[in-house]
Amino acid sequence: MMNNQTTPTPERTHRLRCGPIQFSRRYAGLLVMLALTLALAACAPTQQPTWAIAIHGGAGTLSQNAPPEQLRAYREALQAAVDHGSQRLARGDSALDVCESVVRMLEDNPLFNAGKGAAFNEKGEHELDASIMHGPTLRCGAVAGLRTVKNPISLARLVMERTPHVLLMGDGAEDFAGAMGVERVPNSYFDTPQRRKMLDERLEELRRSSPRSETSPTDNPRKDLRYSTVGCVALDQRGELVAATSTGGLTAKKFGRVGDSPIIGAGTYADDTAAISCTGTGEEFIRHGVARAVALRMKLKGETLAQATHALIHTTLKPDDGGLIAVDARGNISTPYSSEGMYRAWATSLTPSIVRIFKDQ
Ligand code: ASP
Repeated sequence: MMNNQTTPTPERTHRLRCGPIQFSRRYAGLLVMLALTLALAACAPTQQPTWAIAIHGGAGTLSQNAPPEQLRAYREALQAAVDHGSQRLARGDSALDVCESVVRMLEDNPLFNAGKGAAFNEKGEHELDASIMHGPTLRCGAVAGLRTVKNPISLARLVMERTPHVLLMGDGAEDFAGAMGVERVPNSYFDTPQRRKMLDERLEELRRSSPRSETSPTDNPRKDLRYSTVGCVALDQRGELVAATSTGGLTAKKFGRVGDSPIIGAGTYADDTAAISCTGTGEEFIRHGVARAVALRMKLKGETLAQATHALIHTTLKPDDGGLIAVDARGNISTPYSSEGMYRAWATSLTPSIVRIFKDQ
């Protein structure tokens, strides 16, 4: 029977013969192998998600002290929307289809200021805005001042796909909706008691403020529920980036006012670098071209997604102006905001979904 303990292997025999010189050669070899392994590990690309999604339901949240059941309703709505989007991306659906259908879900949910549940303008009516952009081709479509289209985001997509234009507004957009056969509803369909109350309170505040004061709908002091625009950004398995945003605008806004949500480059933007959807005081986002500035900072200044988005929200914009969601071509996600909270959720092929309203939970 062979005794492994005592039978010298060829290697051992050799080592025994050569003494300390062979020892050091052997360990040097091991060290080289270890160094090579470490170098290879450092060079190997870190695992990248094959798809990624982020959604928002606006940067004007309920207060942290709101009744838990109210906050729970928002969390559940965000969870359902991000799960729906994730499942579709995981099975290979396009970012374009996913962004449109996630935004439609949020438009149909009266909790959010888009579609059903849209804010009232100063006349007590609803005017809805939306836009969508396909990063790889820079094709985009937008609608503004809609009054009877149940799901503005789908009409925005039709503007992109069925017209040579980017933005249709008012009566022209309504005519186009008729030609496309999209679902129409009476303007009162968008009413909710919660938004009516906000309008009444806001009009009362405006009445009480001095006629010479600079107060405008964008200076709305009631923080909760101020901005509840919805948006979705996604990277699909083909590597395509898409951004979509839909809103009822600001409560008590002037009749005819259009915010950033349907303005490509301000409230929505996507190219081959990043996809961005914004929420907040639209006038500020338009002024600074926020959504496109994120992608440009990455391209021209070499900033990461996090650096670019944080610079825009925390340096370019003023505190409390709002927030944004963004995803880049590597599947990184960023969701900065300067308000008390922002309804948001995200997921990737490598990480399960996360739903957040405030900073720490
Ligand atoms: N950005 C939107 C607007 O100004 C409002 C919002 O984000 O809720 O119309």
